[in-house]
Amino acid sequence: MLLTKAYYLCKPFLPWSVRMALRRTRAKALRSSQAAVWPIDESAGSPPPNWSGWPGGKRFAVTLTHDVERRLGLARVEELMNLEAKHGFRSSFNFVPEGDYRVPDSLRASMERAGFEVGVHGLKHDGKLYSSKAEFTRRAAKIRSYMEKWKAVGFRSPFMHHNLEWLQMLGGEYDCSTFDSDPFEPQNDGMRTIFPFWVPGPGGSGYVELPYTLVQDFNLFVILRERNIDIWKRKLDWVVEQGGMVLLNTHPDYMCFEGAAARDEFPVSHYEDLLRYIREKYEGDYWAALPRDLARFYRGTTTQPGVKAGGRFSAVTV
Ligand SMILES: [Zn+2]
Repeated sequence: MLLTKAYYLCKPFLPWSVRMALRRTRAKALRSSQAAVWPIDESAGSPPPNWSGWPGGKRFAVTLTHDVERRLGLARVEELMNLEAKHGFRSSFNFVPEGDYRVPDSLRASMERAGFEVGVHGLKHDGKLYSSKAEFTRRAAKIRSYMEKWKAVGFRSPFMHHNLEWLQMLGGEYDCSTFDSDPFEPQNDGMRTIFPFWVPGPGGSGYVELPYTLVQDFNLFVILRERNIDIWKRKLDWVVEQGGMVLLNTHPDYMCFEGAAARDEFPVSHYEDLLRYIREKYEGDYWAALPRDLARFYRGTTTQPGVKAGGRFSAVTV
C-alpha cells in the first residue's frame, strides 16, 4: 500500500517507460500471487438474496461502458459508436467535465438520439477527487451541476477510486467506480460480486453500484501485454454460467482504429472480437442494457412498490 502511494506521488516525474516497467513488474507479481481471485473470484458468483433473474428471462446482462480520458479519446467516440452499432450494441461514455477537452453539446445530442448514454467521469482527471472529504464535497457540487446539465444519472471516478458513502453526495442513480475483483487497481478492494447492489443512504435515498466484471483494456493489453482476448472470453463464459452481469470499461483513447498502435494503444479489432464473440456464441441469451437501464431494473427489484421517501422511491435492500 505504501509502495502504491509512493508510486502515485512520484508518477508525474517519471518517464512513461519507467512507469510502465514498474507497473508491469508489479502486475506480473500480482498476477501470480492473486491467481485465486483474478480473473475469476469464485466467491463473487452468488446472486443477491431473492434474485429473480434478468428481464425477459435472459441468462445474463451485457453492459458496455467507456471512459473518455483525453482529447484523443473524444475524437474517437463516434467511430466507436458506429462499431458498436454495427454489432447491435449501445454503450455509455463517461466524460471528464473539466479535463483537457470539452464535450460538444451536439455530440451529446447525437449520442442520445442514437441510443447511447452519457455519464460523468470525475470532475478533473487528476486523482485528487478523494484527497479529503472537504475536497470531495466541493467537487461533488460541481459534478452534480454537470450531471444535471448533461442529463446524466451515472458516475465513474477517475482511477477507480471510490468511497461508497461519499458518492451519495452526487445524488446519481448509479455509480460504477468499483469491480468484482481487480488486484491491479490502486484502490484494489474488490466488491466480490458480479451483480449490481444497492448502496443505502440516509432517509431512504441511495444508489445502485455497478461493479465492472471484465478486466479493463489498458491493463489487459498495455500492462499485461496480452495479444488476444482469451482472458475476457474465459471470464465472460464464467459470468454467463453464474447468470451475472458482464460489465466492461474500455477507453477510446487506447483503441487504435488505423495504422500501427502507439505504445499505449491496442488494436480496436480486439474489442470488436469480443462483441462478435458475445453475439455469435450467446445470441438471444443476454440482455444488452445501458448502465442506467441496468440500475433502474435493479432498483425496481429491491423497491417496495408505493413506499416513497422525500419524493423518491425508498428502496429496501432485500
Ligand atoms: Zn479515467
